[in-house]
Amino acid sequence: MAARFLIIGAGFSGTVLAHQLVRALPCTIDIWEERDHLGGNCHTERDPETGVMVHRYGPHIFHTDREDVWQFVQQLGRFRPYVHRVKTQVGDRVFSLPINLDTLNQFYGVKLTPSSAPAFLATKADHSITNPANFEEQALSFVGQELYQAFFYGYTKKQWGVEPKELPASILRRLPVRFSYDDNYHPSTYTGIPEDGYSALIEKLVDHPAIRLTLQKRLVPGDARLDDYDHVFFTGPLDAFFQYQFGRLGYRSIRFETHRTAGDFQGCTQMNYGDESVPYTRITEHKHFTPWEQHDKTIYFTEYSFETGENDVPYYPKRLWTDKEKLMQYRHLAGQQQRVSFLGRLATYRYLDMHQVIGEALDFSNRVVEAIQQGTPIPVFPNPEP
Ligand code: UDP
Repeated sequence: MAARFLIIGAGFSGTVLAHQLVRALPCTIDIWEERDHLGGNCHTERDPETGVMVHRYGPHIFHTDREDVWQFVQQLGRFRPYVHRVKTQVGDRVFSLPINLDTLNQFYGVKLTPSSAPAFLATKADHSITNPANFEEQALSFVGQELYQAFFYGYTKKQWGVEPKELPASILRRLPVRFSYDDNYHPSTYTGIPEDGYSALIEKLVDHPAIRLTLQKRLVPGDARLDDYDHVFFTGPLDAFFQYQFGRLGYRSIRFETHRTAGDFQGCTQMNYGDESVPYTRITEHKHFTPWEQHDKTIYFTEYSFETGENDVPYYPKRLWTDKEKLMQYRHLAGQQQRVSFLGRLATYRYLDMHQVIGEALDFSNRVVEAIQQGTPIPVFPNPEP
């Protein structure tokens, strides 16, 4: 008999899982999505006024080193070449990010080369920090006080709402220093932007007679209808599934202020603002994500980061110590559930990019299929305890 699965959430995690399960097993799948669109925070739509394809929940650039993930997304739609180049304004100057030779040369008024730059930077670095324990120490031990203050301190404090020394060093490892002029923000093996946006790809994922997607349908905790299914896969916030009984996991949210004007506003996709005195973190101008399209008008989003309240969209998991303690309590509870698994950025409470979400959903579906075929328990989480 065909198994009946319920997937909560129609972002990449839930829809990749549905796509894989329906092809590997005799099953029917219901997907409930509480928003009025699929795609989660990757959702894209054309702005009716400017005609520009807009990333409604902030910029998403696809990049991966995994051949199988790249092949997987290729079959869903055409990708166009796109290289993400980020600028940052500090005071009245504009620099290139991540820190590269161009940035260093401009900042210090020098002429560094790949061979002279490491020794130069070493004269700036704080060598008293041998084992960096947090974001600030990681930055100081590598680039020193001046560059840290200019490019990281203000931006990070605005973005996360805490002193950078309270944040894990791992966040900074997303932005390594380059001793070359390579300013490609995501130097992965494969990178691109889907020609018709991400939502078109996700529509393809759920386009199957055995998958039924219902929008604007919210899971009410304790809903008796969950018993109608052989297994439930939850991709929403882990703490919400358990009605926040151990308290809320900390997230930062973003408010996007939308502006439209004629022509080209800032000449690039993303301009960061490193100064703490500027209230926003960055401005993204979406027509630059699709350089193959022509638009007379432009639309740009100014991003303001704030602490997520009860009804706000959770974006960035803060993962402070207190959060990690709560996470462990929720994971423990999750392990005691019957017939429920938890998958994706929100259900595992991690800072994940799209390619990681897709890769993990592909791997997890293989494990689910294998468990069902062998009659062993379906894994509860895709990742080990953090
Ligand atoms: N960051 C920073 N200055 C910048 C850009 C980023 O200090 O101009 C820090 C900040 O803490 C941020 C992290 O580096 O959260 C990762 O940056 P990334 O651009 O990867 O963030 P995302 O695009 O995911 O928001």
